[in-house]
Amino acid sequence: MEEAVKMPAPKLNAENQEYWDAARRGVLLVKRCADCGEAHHYPRAICPFCHSGSTEWEEVAGTGVIHTYTIMRREQPSTITAYVALDQGPIMLTNIVGCEPETVRIGMPVQVCFADAEDGLRVPVFRPR
Ligand SMILES: [Zn+2]
Repeated sequence: MEEAVKMPAPKLNAENQEYWDAARRGVLLVKRCADCGEAHHYPRAICPFCHSGSTEWEEVAGTGVIHTYTIMRREQPSTITAYVALDQGPIMLTNIVGCEPETVRIGMPVQVCFADAEDGLRVPVFRPR
């Protein structure tokens, strides 16, 4: 049986450990600032908007739309890399799965799902909804 190629394991550190632990459970987290109220991604201890240290984890539904994308046709199968604008605010760099590259459009509604990565980790990717 052919085994699917796994994504390389992300680099874990104190700032993102909880994010990757949640992803392993199929949960998408963003960081939200308790001072200015803005949510951001990729997770940081310091708010990128107001430099507050009061950032908190927030579980999100992982729904959003494709903000922009590019198709890597040199890889087989083709890989779709995209910025997805989450309904909950932040824009995240990710991959689109579960659809043909020809059908991808800016503004397409997508939903998070999780792809297996090395070291038993799982990486958030998005599929059409
Ligand atoms: Zn802030």
